[in-house]
Amino acid sequence: MIVILGAGATEEQIQQVIAALEQRGYGAHLSRGVERTIVGAIGILEAEQKQLLAQQLEAFPFVERVVPILKPYKLASREFHPEPTIVAVEDLRIGAEQVVVMAGPCSVESREQLLEAARAVKAAGASMLRGGAFKPSTSPYGFTGLEAEGLQLLREAKEETGLPIVTEVMDPRDVELVAECADVLQVGTRNMSNFMLLRELSRASRPVLLKRGMSSTLEEWLQAAEYIMLGGNERVILCERGIRTFEPHTRFTLDINAVPAMKQLSHLPLLVDPSHGTGRRELVAAASRAAVAAGADGLLVEVHPHPEKALKDGAQSLTPEGFAEMMRTLRPVAEAVGRRL
Ligand code: PEP
Ligand code: MN
Repeated sequence: MIVILGAGATEEQIQQVIAALEQRGYGAHLSRGVERTIVGAIGILEAEQKQLLAQQLEAFPFVERVVPILKPYKLASREFHPEPTIVAVEDLRIGAEQVVVMAGPCSVESREQLLEAARAVKAAGASMLRGGAFKPSTSPYGFTGLEAEGLQLLREAKEETGLPIVTEVMDPRDVELVAECADVLQVGTRNMSNFMLLRELSRASRPVLLKRGMSSTLEEWLQAAEYIMLGGNERVILCERGIRTFEPHTRFTLDINAVPAMKQLSHLPLLVDPSHGTGRRELVAAASRAAVAAGADGLLVEVHPHPEKALKDGAQSLTPEGFAEMMRTLRPVAEAVGRRL
């Protein structure tokens, strides 16, 4: 349940509510908004106890309302945190007015490839550099990334271009290592339900970009976010990247519905990945415009200086020219919905 206090609630009153929850075995989570202060009760109580507690809390004159949360997630929900969350990454504010574009190759392949991509995406207006050093591969014969060497190359690319880095972490044991280089830690679609990884990330010092599992419902995705937030890391950025459907024409089906739906369900910032969402270069720009029009806070886009030589995902990677063109056509769409690139 959540306990809603009016705008004028004092520190002492807030502490009284927290103490009342803690006495009954609940944890308390505080969210201070401009309009009101919300205290979330964390834990499980029996229905009867819950009802009594709600009545007792409502008896405090400064408590506006006590609302039961029936959803299986709380910290990630809009009810709990009505104002949109903005995740800061250096000077960027993800979830604010700017549509934040993170672009770069699927995988870090070499110094030349990464630097060429980084310079190109920066010149075209991207605000962050993406690139995998630890790569999930469905085929055990596929490319699995340059690992530590790839992280070093990402560091160099950041030094040269100033672009903050988003890169994937797959193993709980690698979180610290990847966090030394990454400004944002990416959880891939195949790991959205890796609860040990999510738990480890809840203690990480970096924001987490949580991709939607390719067969996950919105509710399952939000519960994955809840794992990270519950452990103390509230800097979660969601990313819709396409789901499995019966349609084989595209690699996945980009679920545009998820954008406005997740904005209603959650306060967390939300990006869209039109590259994996379509799997086809020629569809990426249109899917990006649709995502921004639907209210996405940013994009995660694959760009390769020479897609025909890419070790992974060449078919869905934009060329530098294609990316620059996409950015040009995106600008008026962003402006039309009150955002900027
Ligand atoms: C990626 O971003 O390169 C990637 C592997 O994405 P996903 O986990 O969405 O397949
Ligand atoms: Mn990829």
